[in-house]
Amino acid sequence: GDFPIETDTIVIGSGPGGYVAAIRAAQLGQKVTIVEKAEIGGVCLNVGCIPSKAIISAGHRYETAKDSENIGIKAENVTVDFSKVQEFKAGVVKKLVGGVQGLLKGNKVEVVKGEAYFVDGNTLRVMDENSAQTYTFKNAIIATGSRPIELPAFKYSKRVLNSTGALELEEIPEKIAVIGGGVIGIELGGAYASFGTQVTILEGADDILVGFEKQMTTLVKKNLKKKGAEIITKAKAKGVEETDKGVKVTYEAKGEEKSLDADYVFVMVGRRPNTDELGLEQVGIKMSDRGVIEIDKQCRTSVSNIFAIGDIVSGPQLAHKASYEGKIAAEVISGHSSEIDYLGIPAVVFSNPELATVGYSEAQAKEEGLEYTAAKFPFAANGRALALDSTDGYVKLITRKEDGLVIGAQIAGTNASDMIAELGLAIEAGMTAEDLAMTIHAHPTLGEITMEAAEVALGTPIHIV
Ligand code: FAD
Repeated sequence: GDFPIETDTIVIGSGPGGYVAAIRAAQLGQKVTIVEKAEIGGVCLNVGCIPSKAIISAGHRYETAKDSENIGIKAENVTVDFSKVQEFKAGVVKKLVGGVQGLLKGNKVEVVKGEAYFVDGNTLRVMDENSAQTYTFKNAIIATGSRPIELPAFKYSKRVLNSTGALELEEIPEKIAVIGGGVIGIELGGAYASFGTQVTILEGADDILVGFEKQMTTLVKKNLKKKGAEIITKAKAKGVEETDKGVKVTYEAKGEEKSLDADYVFVMVGRRPNTDELGLEQVGIKMSDRGVIEIDKQCRTSVSNIFAIGDIVSGPQLAHKASYEGKIAAEVISGHSSEIDYLGIPAVVFSNPELATVGYSEAQAKEEGLEYTAAKFPFAANGRALALDSTDGYVKLITRKEDGLVIGAQIAGTNASDMIAELGLAIEAGMTAEDLAMTIHAHPTLGEITMEAAEVALGTPIHIV
């Protein structure tokens, strides 16, 4: 055997959960080792958040270049060189991955390439192509993330793609079918629709983006339809047959069996935790039937020196949630008393218009029997939104009736992804509608919509009657 290498804290997986945990643990004085079997940066940097946003933004530029005649801009012969778009995307990813590598090095985190599995509660084995190394640790943080769920009737192939395949296409397809109208399906389906692909979205539920309020999903559907996309709800995807030119997807809708032809089918029906090949049973780490690791408020698993964060624990599968938990786990290991509080975690859909929520929705407030006020202000009544020619959307504030405390917000509209930060801060800092209303927002900016929504909550809006 090999000589075991000793470390204080070992982190498995270098996604936004793992690399952030490793850096924070190192900042707090731990000797840290991080193990990664694929690329530094995990799903988020390599095949998730970042590359998808690069493609979405390129699609949006193309679309707006062609569609600005109403503001006096007529661009002729606007064309796409999709291989250049892919190059742009790859460049962004490369820069960020290099950045994270530099940060790990700068914080003296030892980076080990290979696949890790637990031997016991203090020992990990890391296998690389033809070598193996044992590590002993005081504490471990599992941050192995998730992978796309494969449907038995839709085995991945050259034309049956998961999100990774969908991000790698070399040409703009003429026609795609997307199974799943969740965040990833809507973002990537929408991106290709921006480039002119004919997109059909098959969603099993009665609406897309389950969990987002109806007024939000309505705006997204309106825009998708404008781009020529078709959305079929209550549709059950049955199977796929490869043809010479593409695929024939069969599905059931309204009690009838139907089919559609496309170049590709994207299967975007959710992600499963990577907890099946880690030897977790050996160590006695408790998991649900679906492989979700149980943790307490400090990210500790049922084994007290082993922590778990990110997509492998319950809660929304989001990069910033993984990073947040990563910091907590690292701090707890270093003797701090940090605890998770999920109320301030925002969720964003990079659709058109963008959707962003934080804290309570009206439905959740109702469900918990809270006495609340919902106050809404439209983009259409804001000068900046008009000047941007982006008037679809609104800010809705959910405040507690007794004292005006901000407990939630929903934003649909241009830059909702950035605007939600102010509301996250309001929740985190325990602010009231009055605090938001009293905050001076520059004019003309979209931020004023938030200020006005707060005024609506107080009953004194200036720019609406
Ligand atoms: P991951 O990022 O999945 O990283 C886990 C890492 O662990 C991987 O690199 C993996 O190789 C490694 N690993 C696994 N097993 C082992 C092992 N045994 N040994 C060594 N290494 C191992 N979230 C957002 O917040 N915003 C977005 O805009 C967004 N867009 C997305 C778009 C797409 C197309 C996809 C697929 C996801 C998107 N997400 C987005 C979700 C986000 O990517 C995840 O929530 C996030 O990456 C989870 O981070 P993580 O650290 O838990 O795991």
